[in-house]
Amino acid sequence: MARIKYYYDTETCKYERIKVSKWDIFLNSLGIFTLSLILAILILFVSSTYLESPQVSLLKKENQELLIYYEDMQQDLRQMDGMLTALQERDDNIYRVIFEADPIPSTVRQAGVGGTDRYKALREGKLEREDLVISTYEEIDKLKKHMYIQTKSYDDILQMAKNKTAMLASIPSIQPIQNKDLKRLASGYGMRMHPLLKYTRMHAGCDFSAPQGTPIFATGNGKVERARFSSTSGNMVTIDHGYGYETKYLHMSKFAVKEGQQVKRGDVIGYVGNTGLSKAPHCHYEVWKDNQHVNPVNYFYNDVTDEEYDKLLELASRENESLG
Ligand SMILES: [Zn+2]
Repeated sequence: MARIKYYYDTETCKYERIKVSKWDIFLNSLGIFTLSLILAILILFVSSTYLESPQVSLLKKENQELLIYYEDMQQDLRQMDGMLTALQERDDNIYRVIFEADPIPSTVRQAGVGGTDRYKALREGKLEREDLVISTYEEIDKLKKHMYIQTKSYDDILQMAKNKTAMLASIPSIQPIQNKDLKRLASGYGMRMHPLLKYTRMHAGCDFSAPQGTPIFATGNGKVERARFSSTSGNMVTIDHGYGYETKYLHMSKFAVKEGQQVKRGDVIGYVGNTGLSKAPHCHYEVWKDNQHVNPVNYFYNDVTDEEYDKLLELASRENESLG
């Protein structure tokens, strides 16, 4: 129902009906439309500037969470690096010291990952927080490198431990004949009067007095280098133990090994005799290190107690005549 509008005409003193033309209606409509349009644009501008769409706020929230995770990861990585450093210190200060190996130089441990710029793609990716992502990757790479060096070092240590076992089995460390009551050690290493030559000269070994035919043992693992007779040493066996060690057993009555034969500590290599320049049946035993004879008494530690060892030291230092 159309509303009819009136106005008061002062000339006619009557209410007259307002006549609305089609033009008026058009102009009115145009005004309302324009106003609506301006309002709409204004609302759109304000909302896009000051308000966010649900997707944008969701992404922002996700970004925030990712940042927290990255920072968390970096903290974890730093912790792992700390643990690895502790392992490295243990490696350098304990294991490598035990096996008398040089520590791994810090320049090797701290060496970079190398190669071309591994993070080029990331740098060009124009990420909002590329620095955080790159530094996390860098931390991971550093850690991987350190872990690799550390595992290599443990491989070395394992190898050294294996070698050490072989070395310990090879280095002479027992007496060449059974000497339970310690009565066998007749003469020690040092200047001694020779019983047959009748002058004082360097006695380069220890003499173990024992009945003819008493078994003589290899004092460490090794290879029989010589098993021959000489007019001075009599029947003599030389064992090459490796690691710079050699042992010699003189004046045997009989050999129990051949040249070139591998022997283990405790194997019978011959029997006590009185061959060569010898006054009575005994085993003259020598230990050589790096082509230099050394005092054999320092190599009897494996089969004696501390007290027995003290007694042996005392017996070996007596300035008596040797047996040959
Ligand atoms: Zn001797």
